[in-house]
Amino acid sequence: MLRPVRVEPERVALEEGLKPALRLRLAPSLRAELVLRYRGEGFDVQERGDLVYVARDPELGRELARLDGALERVVRGATYRSLMRSIGERLGYPACCVDAFVLRARRYPERLLARLPGYRAEAYRTARAAWVRRPLARLDPFLGGDEARLVPFEPCRFDCPVARAWADRVFDAVARRDPEGARRLDERLARDVAVCPRGAIAIVSVDPSRRVRAAQPVPRFAGAPPSAADRAAVRALVGRRVRPDGRVGRRLGPEPVVIAFGRA
Ligand SMILES: [Zn+2]
Repeated sequence: MLRPVRVEPERVALEEGLKPALRLRLAPSLRAELVLRYRGEGFDVQERGDLVYVARDPELGRELARLDGALERVVRGATYRSLMRSIGERLGYPACCVDAFVLRARRYPERLLARLPGYRAEAYRTARAAWVRRPLARLDPFLGGDEARLVPFEPCRFDCPVARAWADRVFDAVARRDPEGARRLDERLARDVAVCPRGAIAIVSVDPSRRVRAAQPVPRFAGAPPSAADRAAVRALVGRRVRPDGRVGRRLGPEPVVIAFGRA
């Protein structure tokens, strides 16, 4: 087992001014401590449902909360997309990645869409759309649960040069404070990740014959353990073959996809 990563790239990005605000989805058990901590350090903290906004500028946090409130009420994809664009811009994400995200975006809320038979989760649509043969480990956006990640947004491609520069700036800021933590972070990010059609995410190891040897489910957001359905989807990956285009198994309906972040 790797040792836990204690560095917090998003926090460093905020403190160094690389990111104007944080928009965090957290389980209630984690929220109180985090809110107290950021307020204690002089940040403005706004809360709305399971989202927490942290910013130096109180107006920015309130604006983000207002945009999320509007998101919950929209019924049309076009309105949803324009609200998502505003949120991405205010969080300081690369324009190409925001544009790609907005093109994929659907009507909120995802949990209602998830009941539909042909449903494809947002993470899965991203995994398919951004897939490249040689992805950059620092651009893995899927470990946002209980593990650290460098990019809190979904890159337009897993080798996007603008996202890469963004991730490298955050990494360098982390490394200045904690070189050993930064090294461990790079090590942890360099692992293959599978995303299933209904949104289950796993860290996988793929053997030389291209079969999934092991798959470990990861939470979709911090403090939320994977559901029974997610665990079952992840278990079903083991023993299956990963094709050269990253898809797992035979061509029958939507297949899970593996992104080879672990490929050096
Ligand atoms: Zn991009």
